Formats: sequence, C-alpha cells, structure tokens
Amino acid sequence: MSVESRTSIVWEYAPAPESSDHVRLQDRYGLFIDGDFREPSARRYVPSINPATEETIAEVAWAGEADVQAAIESARAAHPRWVALPDRERAKYLFRIARLIQERSRELAVVETIDGGKPLRESRDVDIPLAAAHFFHYAGWADKLHYGVNARRVEPLGVVGQIVPWNFPLLMAAWKLAPALACGNTAILKPAETTPLTALLLAEICREAELPPGVVSVLPGDGAVGSTLVRAPGINKIAFTGSTAVGREIQAALAGRDVELTLELGGKSANIVFEDAALDQAVEGIVNGIFFNQGHVCCAGSRLLIQESVLDEVISKLWRRMGLLRIGDPLDKNTDVGAINSAAQLERIETLVAAGEEEGARRQTVACELPERGYWFAPTLFTHVSPAHRIAVEEIFGPVVSVLSFRTQAEAIEKANNSRYGLAAGIWTDKGAKAFEVANALRAGVVWQNTYNHFDPTAAFGGYKESGFGREGGPAGLRPYLRVLR
Ligand code: NDP
Repeated sequence: MSVESRTSIVWEYAPAPESSDHVRLQDRYGLFIDGDFREPSARRYVPSINPATEETIAEVAWAGEADVQAAIESARAAHPRWVALPDRERAKYLFRIARLIQERSRELAVVETIDGGKPLRESRDVDIPLAAAHFFHYAGWADKLHYGVNARRVEPLGVVGQIVPWNFPLLMAAWKLAPALACGNTAILKPAETTPLTALLLAEICREAELPPGVVSVLPGDGAVGSTLVRAPGINKIAFTGSTAVGREIQAALAGRDVELTLELGGKSANIVFEDAALDQAVEGIVNGIFFNQGHVCCAGSRLLIQESVLDEVISKLWRRMGLLRIGDPLDKNTDVGAINSAAQLERIETLVAAGEEEGARRQTVACELPERGYWFAPTLFTHVSPAHRIAVEEIFGPVVSVLSFRTQAEAIEKANNSRYGLAAGIWTDKGAKAFEVANALRAGVVWQNTYNHFDPTAAFGGYKESGFGREGGPAGLRPYLRVLR
C-alpha cells in the first residue's frame, strides 16, 4: 500500500466542539405506535452506538411481527379521518412539524452527528434545515395536489411503509413522510438499525404537533423488521431507500401483490471534469462530491472522469486539497470528514479498497492521525484505474474516489454511462452548450453543472437503471403517493 503523507501546510486549529448540554436524550426509547411510545412485544432493546467513540448513546426498542401488525392496524384506523380532513388542515400539521424541527434543530443536529458519525457542520447546515424544508415544501402542496398531477383527480394510496438507510437518517425520513402525509396517506417508518435516534425525536415532534394517533408510526429494528413490513398484509405502498441488493429483494417479494413500490438505490456517479472548466472550483466540487458525509451518499461523485489534457493538474490540485481536510471528532465544528457509520460499513470500504490495490490501481491515502476508538477511514484517491476494476464499478460508500480519464466528449459520455447505475452526475465546464449536450446524453436522474451534491426540496431526485425508480422532491414527489383517478 502506498500511503502518502501530507504535502501541504497543515493548519493547527484549537478544538471547537459543539456543546451538547441542550440535548435531552432518554436512556431508552420504545416504539412509536398509535401516537405514543410503547414497549416492544418481545421486550427487545438494542443499544445505538456512537460510531466515533463506540459508546452507547441510548437503548432502542426493536419491533417484532406483532408490533408491525399493531402499527398497520393503527395506521389503517387513522387513515379515514386523516384523509377526510380538509387539505388545508393536513397542511397545518406539516407546517407545525417543520417549525418544530427548526425549533429543535440544534438538538437534532447533535443527535444526528453522534448517532451517525457525520460532521456537525453537515448535520447543522444541511440535514436538519433540508428536513424542515421538505416539510414546509409539502405542506404547501397539501391543498394543491391536483395541480401537481396535471389537474387530474387523485386519491391517496392508504397506508405506506417507508424504509430508510443510515446515511441521512432524518432527511430521508422527511423525504418520505412529508409527501406521503401531504397526499393523505398514513405512514409507518422503519429507520436504519444504526441510526434510529432522530427518527424517534421526529416521533416526539409528531406527538408535540398533535398529529392524530396512527398517522405516523416509527418502528426501529433491523432488516427483519423491514422485511416483515414489506410482506405484511394491509400495506398499500412501500417506499425504500438503500442498497440495490435489498431493493431487488423487496421488488421480488412484492411481485404479484397490489402494493405500489418506489426504490431509491445505489449509485456510482460520474463527476466529469472538462479541460475548459474552472479547475480550482472543480476541485472543490470533487471534494464535496466524494468526501461529503464520508462518501456515504448514494449520489456521491465516486467515479471522477478527468479530461486527459488536465489530468495531472487536477490530480495534483485535488491531492493538495485532500491534505487540508480535517478528519476526526464529528462534533468539532472544524471537522470535514467524520466517522464511518458502523464497523460493518468500514469493513466493506476496506474490502473494496484492498481489491483496488490488488487489481493494480494506485492508492494515495491522506496521512492523518485517526482517533483510537471508533470507525475511521482516511480520504483516499485511486489513480491508474481501469473501467473494469471493482473500485470503478461497485459502490464503495466511503471517502474513496476512483479517477478515470477521457480524451473526447463522446468518450466522457460513454464512460459515464458505462455503469449499471444511473443516479447522478456532475459536469464541470465553462461552456453552457457543452453542459446541456452532455447532460442530455447522460442516463442519470440528476445532473449538476459546476456544482455537486446540491439538494433542493423543490427538485425531483431519483434514478435510472439499477439506481431505482420513482422520484422524491418537488411536484414529482407527490405522484408516488397518489392514485390518479381520471
Ligand atoms: P440496506 O439496503 O441493507 O439498508 C437500508 C434499509 O433497509 C435499512 O433500514 C435496513 O435495515 C433495511 N433492510 C435491510 N434488509 C432488509 C430487507 N430484507 N427487507 C426490508 N428492509 C431491509 O443498506 P445497508 O445499510 O446494509 O448498506 C449497504 C450498502 O447499501 C451500502 O454500502 C451502500 O452501497 C448502499 N446504500 C445505499 C443507500 C442509498 O441512499 N442509495 C443508503 C444506504 C446504503 P438495517 O439498517 O437494519 O439493515
């Protein structure tokens, strides 16, 4: 392994940890069913761990089959009254939830960071504000559904099961719950087993907002809980975000059943840098594209395509910039790269990085002192990558970027599309016409120009090919929660 040391100036910063005095977590959380927290039927509680310290933050109830059934019954019972509410009244609940998220934003940001490992700067400035923004956005749609679907008559689907991953726990919950509720559905949310805490705080917020019991239930647990929810009778729709393998399994389980499905799966997105781009700006975009949230991002720009004429220059600028990234305590306000979400995810990253080295790619890893406890992986750059290498094909879901080169625009498009995924892409060029031409030729759900990882509740997000189907965000995000009548 070639681990290169920092070549650049290392800035010394005094620690700047965010205060967590305002966070009032309970030692133990139950399941949120029928408007209140209750004991799980099997009395099973599992610790939720801080991945930066391996310490237990709180114990969380795991749902069993009987609990899934109870949540479905409660959601079914709540549905007729929820859908009968005037649309404006439903909107008021969503506005209330959005405002409560804002009120508790400092607390939510800290909890998101300690439960998931992401830098506080990101949870504070991205995850939590965007979660509130999704509730605000869909609150606005609740009495205008009709306009979101070309003035057709619509009705909600009924009870929706929503399964979310660990990379943006509260934000993914908001992406799913806000449109579902705005459309008049009732929902059962299954958070990821490593990051249940902000979903449980969101359950508290729903109670504080006096959301009618049964409209939202939160059932923490492992994959088995998700699997039970998918197979349970009484569900009208499943919305899933996570790995392609589990997405495929869910699709097979639902085949032949009258249950709607949307899947938001993995990606291996191409970030394409043309020779005419503003290269310093592109380097910032590359860093944001792959090191944001430790690379635990489905649309991460993990395949970096650089035009050959500027390859060496971009790599040298990127490597220098990587040396300035601060890795460590996620609660420190200066941290750029936090902890890997779990031991299992760290092992997946290490396996794929080892495969990259074995297959002959050249690895450069930023040398830095990593904390002794917790799960960490230093930012890593692979060059001399061939399109067939596993690190160019498979989703690593970590702070690892694989560089490929191209000579012409046509070759860039061909290489970018040479993936079983099609979630996102980035294009860096000064030429507007080129950006449009390339964007039109890319089979990717989201294409950013001269920026990356830019999210907005008013814009649709979703994939092509094995990145899934269905759209979340904006008016397009209403459609998966509605039945169009005529
Ligand atoms: P999973 O797809 O396993 O998990 C996503 C969610 O589905 C979690 O809530 C999980 O529960 C649940 N789940 C797991 N198995 C089942 C099942 N059989 N039926 C129903 N629900 C299930 O992702 P992982 O957390 O294991 O991550 C693995 C890989 O997936 C990552 O390395 C990454 O490549 C990709 N991924 C992609 C994401 C994206 O946003 N597109 C997000 C997360 C992961 P539990 O947490 O208990 O496993």
